Amino acid sequence: MKFFCLNGKLIPEKLLPPTQKQSTTPLPISLIENLPETPLINPNYPFNRDLQKLLSGKQLLLQDLPHSLQEIQSHYENGYLIYRKSIVIEKNKHTCLRCGNRQKHLFASFPCARCGETCVYCRKCIMMGRTSTCTPLVSWTGPPIPIEITNPPLLWTGTLSAGQGFASDAVVKAVHETDSLLVWAVCGAGKTEVLFNGINAALLEGKRVCLATPRTDVVLELSPRLKKVFPGIPVATLYGGSEDRHLYAPLTIATTHQLLRFYQAFDVVVLDEVDAFPYSVEEALQYCVEEARKKVSSIIYLTATPNEKWRKECKTGKRSFVTIPARFHRYSLPVPRFVWCGNWYKQLKKGKLPGNVLKWITRRVSDGQQALFFFPRIELMEKILPLMKTIDPRIEAVHAEDPKRKEKVQAMRDKEIPILLTTTILERGVTFPKLDVAVVGAEDRIFTESALVQIAGRVGRSSDFPSGDITFFHYGKTDAMVKARKQILAMNKEARVRGLIDN
Ligand SMILES: [Zn+2]
Ligand SMILES: [Zn+2]
Repeated sequence: MKFFCLNGKLIPEKLLPPTQKQSTTPLPISLIENLPETPLINPNYPFNRDLQKLLSGKQLLLQDLPHSLQEIQSHYENGYLIYRKSIVIEKNKHTCLRCGNRQKHLFASFPCARCGETCVYCRKCIMMGRTSTCTPLVSWTGPPIPIEITNPPLLWTGTLSAGQGFASDAVVKAVHETDSLLVWAVCGAGKTEVLFNGINAALLEGKRVCLATPRTDVVLELSPRLKKVFPGIPVATLYGGSEDRHLYAPLTIATTHQLLRFYQAFDVVVLDEVDAFPYSVEEALQYCVEEARKKVSSIIYLTATPNEKWRKECKTGKRSFVTIPARFHRYSLPVPRFVWCGNWYKQLKKGKLPGNVLKWITRRVSDGQQALFFFPRIELMEKILPLMKTIDPRIEAVHAEDPKRKEKVQAMRDKEIPILLTTTILERGVTFPKLDVAVVGAEDRIFTESALVQIAGRVGRSSDFPSGDITFFHYGKTDAMVKARKQILAMNKEARVRGLIDN
């Protein structure tokens, strides 16, 4: 689509009578150098409340709106919405304003039917619909939808551990004071409960809250939990293909991807598992979080394993943070053992296991002790599966693309599988009550410090079985292994000093 720029207003080409067209040329929005200011709001305009609900805090592509162009334009002319460029061009360089992409190879051009020219589009965020040089992003500028909550919305009868309570107070404070806060909570600390009071406080202040996490399964797990403790509050659950896409709610639970549709929407953003991304992805994520939150808003980061940069910022006082160094059950974190196992790679390639590794496995099988067994690569894991099946035919292997992934994890929960071989896919998010864990080839690059801390964090989660064995089998220690162990020891030490553990 192209716009005329007339009398300080943008007018879609299609909406201008032909008689007026000669005096000026229409352009794709990205090529209009200075966009006119948004028209002043006309308080008497009878705006459409459906459009308000659809667009509040959002940035949607014009073609995704189910309203007529006339109606949209009329809201624009009365100051109720804005057209923004989705792609800006500066010195021949493109930037996608929706996802922040600036990488040349992630832009492409195509003959565009909408404007009849060659348009440039962003490949990076194409799964959310195509942004292009002639495609405006549309956002609401009219009155906000009031959130009126009078009774405290939180209905929860559980109690917080001392460590959780301390962090919970810090979250409430960050909400009140629109601050940023990192909650550094060990695996099994119970980080979700730590958010309850903060979300409650925000909702009572009429604030809009978003809890964003990288993985869809976490969204699906968190959504019913939050609906249960905030029973009177509409909750929007957003992931690829979810039905709540257009639901306006005071509380939103979304995959980080879905944040791309939001624009200055949230007063409080909780970002879960920031460390699950490599740094380059983290940067892109930071961009869309900044776009989705209001200019004045709180941001709470949750993680068990902040990266080195963040930890340094904590140490030097540049980042406000709170730690929960102990699990809710008040037992210390199991500390990994390092066990040298020789050239595991050579052995695995032949479908064999180093002697001490094999012994570790057979002992678990004969003791009836469930275990997770981590491998650096799928093909090595599959090479070894036949041997494992001779030990116990119920042993299974799982990886990211495994179509039976869910069933196998469930079978593990039901104790039908004694030992589950896995790639790093199960490094986080899964909890089995009584578990030993081993990593073979712990020095492989794929096992970063945070991956190893997360893997160790699978052990001893339940208060009935708070301990367990965690062994890193290796052919030479790495920095990551040493640092992971150090991090766990440091958390245990802090927990002891603060009186948060009993053993
Ligand atoms: Zn176009
Ligand atoms: Zn993009």
